[in-house]
Amino acid sequence: MKKQSAYLLFISVWIAACSFAANAQNKIFFASNPVVAHRGAWKQNNFPQNSIASLKHAIELKCTGSEFDVRMTADDILIINHDPEYNKLPVEKTKYKAFAAFNLANGEKLPTLQEYIKAGMKNNTSTRLVCEIKPSEISKERGKAVAEKVVKLVHKLKADQRIVYISFDYGILKRILELDPKAITQYLEGDKSPDQLKADGISGADFHYSVFVEHPAWIEMAKKNNITLNAWTVNEAAGMDWLISNNFDFITTNEPELLMERIKHSRTSMGWKLKCCDEFNYFGLPDSTKWVYVTEGNSPGWENNDAHF
Ligand code: MG
Repeated sequence: MKKQSAYLLFISVWIAACSFAANAQNKIFFASNPVVAHRGAWKQNNFPQNSIASLKHAIELKCTGSEFDVRMTADDILIINHDPEYNKLPVEKTKYKAFAAFNLANGEKLPTLQEYIKAGMKNNTSTRLVCEIKPSEISKERGKAVAEKVVKLVHKLKADQRIVYISFDYGILKRILELDPKAITQYLEGDKSPDQLKADGISGADFHYSVFVEHPAWIEMAKKNNITLNAWTVNEAAGMDWLISNNFDFITTNEPELLMERIKHSRTSMGWKLKCCDEFNYFGLPDSTKWVYVTEGNSPGWENNDAHF
């Protein structure tokens, strides 16, 4: 009898340990880097953009996010494609079956959103799925209908925790929030301040890099409002360094490997903090709130005795 109890106790402990291990395995710990691979990590391996291969590579690189574009066919199938056309067929006016004849350049079939999310949930505990819902070219209402279908599918696949919704269409993001108030949303257009985004319940400002250069005050405004900062699409080292030094939460890039390198060597990773910066993106004299005139140089012997003109 005692032997039986010990045996049962051993089995129970073993089952509990296995279940703990399984839960730990399923737990998502998004990578702490800010790297979002734009249409997946495609460039260095010459994968097609928005392919499952590019998504898988972004996961292998442990990017914190992998972005992709969603459109809806004439018969309401959600597919992954950037352009309004696929093989010269207008996506919104063509039935899904017609696309089946045209594989991607690496032989993959054109992925549906369902296939894409499922691939993004497999062996992935590091990478957010950054889902751009393209505005409809037919009507604003159709755009919202696409959003509804996307949210429904995300819930069905239990992928809610992994998805960041982004869009140029503010109405699409607002519709998503009506359906799922906890959804993480980022706005792409760059024509609304972080204060406005906060007021409307949008989680993040995912603007073109130049918008933040033109409105540097929006960076602080976003931080004060807990609005996530994301910039697209930054492929050069200088732009990456500027965003890293300004502690952007996300940086969207076609060059995730380069961005990983820049982060590794960035001064902030060595404990440096940005105290002051000026991009000189204005006309006229230097900004007097940041710069002063040093006139001692007018006296002989000051500076380094170089000839100054
Ligand atoms: Mg996109």
